[in-house]
Amino acid sequence: MEKLKNKVILITGAAMGLGFASALVAAKNGALLSLVDYNAESLEKAKNEIESKYPETQIITAVADVSDEESVKKYVQETVATFGRIDGFYNNAGIEGRQAPLVDYDLDVFKKVVDINLMGVYYGLKYVIPVMQKQEFGRIVNVASVGGIRGVMNQTPYVATKHAVSGITKNAALEYGKFGIMTNAIAPGAILTPMVAEAFRQVNPADPQAAEDNYAQANPTKRLGRPEEVGNLVVFLLSEDCSYVNGQVIAIDGGQSNAY
Ligand code: NAD
Repeated sequence: MEKLKNKVILITGAAMGLGFASALVAAKNGALLSLVDYNAESLEKAKNEIESKYPETQIITAVADVSDEESVKKYVQETVATFGRIDGFYNNAGIEGRQAPLVDYDLDVFKKVVDINLMGVYYGLKYVIPVMQKQEFGRIVNVASVGGIRGVMNQTPYVATKHAVSGITKNAALEYGKFGIMTNAIAPGAILTPMVAEAFRQVNPADPQAAEDNYAQANPTKRLGRPEEVGNLVVFLLSEDCSYVNGQVIAIDGGQSNAY
């Protein structure tokens, strides 16, 4: 069954990783797609790949930086101008920053992580929610992280901003549930995407594969997650079936965040 048949789904950070994987699963489920990313070349590639797999899918793209409020306003307006509505918003774009101890953290990188992971998520909500309020329907999935519910060594701004995403999610759920808008966040563990591959290169530059194997061993499932597994959860949370789950931060990490 196509869970997102004719639903308009807006995805940020759609060119790669979790955004792209979810766009593919959404297309498989019949969605109309508005894809946003600041990497123009990869975004075009992503669009072509989705179209070659699911030729029926209508797709528009916007090259935009989610940390720039005017660009966010524009990608929301363009989506509404083309499709007339926004049913689901996958507020996904984010960066890790560099890994360093708290007191040594480079301030410019710190501020960039805040601009993208916190302000970018907020701007998206600020412009998408009014569209959904008018429709009296909407589904929002913000992307936190296990770093949004736990600490992660050497990733202070990442952890701070992802905890903020968990908090914003709860407030959006409280304030806009009455308009039929369900807002939730996902908290992925290590899912093998370009971002996580880069993190393993930073942990062990000489042998990133060893860092990956080591990390997988600590997981109850003894493996990392796959992007399409996240896509399946996101599609449920963006669908009409998600009608009474609101304000939750849902871990998708093979159970690892339960360990003490
Ligand atoms: P990724 O780096 O593989 O892909 C991120 C995509 O977002 C890229 O296409 C990039 O160009 C785009 N992007 C980044 N900043 C942007 C900006 N300012 N404006 C527009 N586009 C931007 O990363 P990923 O692993 O797919 O991560 C996606 C989201 O999931 C992030 O919010 C990340 O923090 C979160 N997350 C990922 C994991 C994981 O294991 N992969 C775990 C927890 C949380």
